[in-house]
Amino acid sequence: MFFFFAALLAVAPRVWAGPPPAALPPLRVRAVAPDVFVYTSYRRYPGVAAPVPANGLIVRTRQGAVLIDTPWDPEQTQQLLQWVADSLHQRVRLALVTHAHQDRVGGLAVLQARRIRVYSSPLTARRVRQLYPAAAPLTAALKPYTLIRAGRTRLELFFPGPAHAPDNIVAWLPRQKVLFGGCLVREQAATSLGNLDEANLTRWPAALRTVQARYPKARVVVPGHGQWGGTALLAHTDELLRGAARRKSPTALREPLP
Ligand SMILES: [Zn+2]
Repeated sequence: MFFFFAALLAVAPRVWAGPPPAALPPLRVRAVAPDVFVYTSYRRYPGVAAPVPANGLIVRTRQGAVLIDTPWDPEQTQQLLQWVADSLHQRVRLALVTHAHQDRVGGLAVLQARRIRVYSSPLTARRVRQLYPAAAPLTAALKPYTLIRAGRTRLELFFPGPAHAPDNIVAWLPRQKVLFGGCLVREQAATSLGNLDEANLTRWPAALRTVQARYPKARVVVPGHGQWGGTALLAHTDELLRGAARRKSPTALREPLP
């Protein structure tokens, strides 16, 4: 019996690597506050059984929809623009990118082909130029603190310091009290800090405290991946950072994920 079990274990990874990857789950869009929608796109990674979800925001305004981050790839970005047209009867007038990783910029080409303005910080624009040389340049319009007004909608973009990535920013909708933390914030079910390839573990805790102090009234906190919640997600991310510091071997927490 034991041998049979051991043989199964030895064979399992090869079985997984063999067949072509299954189709991705359909793009999901869910309302989290009036005029604010979280969309979730998916990507498969070799050796990871479940597709990896990533969250972005769509905000309906009187001047058209604002998109925060693109889906993982062009196809899901097309689907998202179609959803905005079919369900909100609007067009995306402006897109904002919260850092230069694929789960944030994978659909840039689609936006640029439709002549949708894409704003980012100067650092993100520079990094996108280096990492994705084929992409059209982003408009480096976002300062460390930027307030965007579209009709009655207010949207604040804020750089709290390096954390998950050197250039990560967060987005805040003061009327709806929705905080888009992006990859700086982990979901409640997360037991690790995610991809640390470009993380700054020394400065992440301070960046997180800055976000906590600035947005204590957040009703909905949206992480870059997984289920959204309240400000408890910020406390949970803080716990994970403390755990990583205690272990002093954060690489043990690495995942081949975004
Ligand atoms: Zn990232």
